[in-house]
Amino acid sequence: MRDYRFPFDAKHLTALVALAWLASFAHEFVHHLNGAFVCGEAGRMSLSLFALANACEPGWPWTTAAGPLLSYASMWLGMALVLRSRWTWWGMALVIANKPVLRLLTAAMGGGDEGVLFDLLSPVAGRWWATACVAALSLPPLWVCYRMLAPRRRPGVFAAALLLPMLPILPVPFLDRAWYGEWIGGGASLPAGFGVPWSVWAVEIAVAAALIVASLAMPRRVDRPRHA
Ligand SMILES: [Zn+2]
Repeated sequence: MRDYRFPFDAKHLTALVALAWLASFAHEFVHHLNGAFVCGEAGRMSLSLFALANACEPGWPWTTAAGPLLSYASMWLGMALVLRSRWTWWGMALVIANKPVLRLLTAAMGGGDEGVLFDLLSPVAGRWWATACVAALSLPPLWVCYRMLAPRRRPGVFAAALLLPMLPILPVPFLDRAWYGEWIGGGASLPAGFGVPWSVWAVEIAVAAALIVASLAMPRRVDRPRHA
């Protein structure tokens, strides 16, 4: 089936934004969790940043690799779902929510976790190795999603599906720095569970609840072939 019509109604968009938000949290939380494992104590986390426990300097950057590993595993799980054509929306949503285009742009600009990792291997060409690696991991899921869309207005629909859910979460890093910058920097203490402020836990639980409500409100089996 290559005639999937990506839904842009409020329920699907709400679920997609919530999933993208939670994917960012999961990415950061996996960094944080590995930091706690490597350092023997939990560091600090906010909405989109993490800091290792004070004075902890792990020898090998497991903590840096862990986040992208989860993001790419999620994208490829999404790609597998799209290829099976049964959970097409969830598959595409998993690919989009893990921000393949943003990861690619960040790596090309010399930043991101992948840039940090490849700079360790090759300080001169690390940026380009990182970009090539991110492209190899991101482009197949993107291509599978693109090909699954109905051919009519495919490029526009694809671009909208990738970009629209990102708009509400674009300000998060700026707000995060304003609200939790001192906490991450170690200059302020906040009531927290496992190194995550309770206010952050509350936001994530609210977003997860929004995802559950929106996904329960979605029509069942929207990806059923219409001409079957
Ligand atoms: Zn990361």
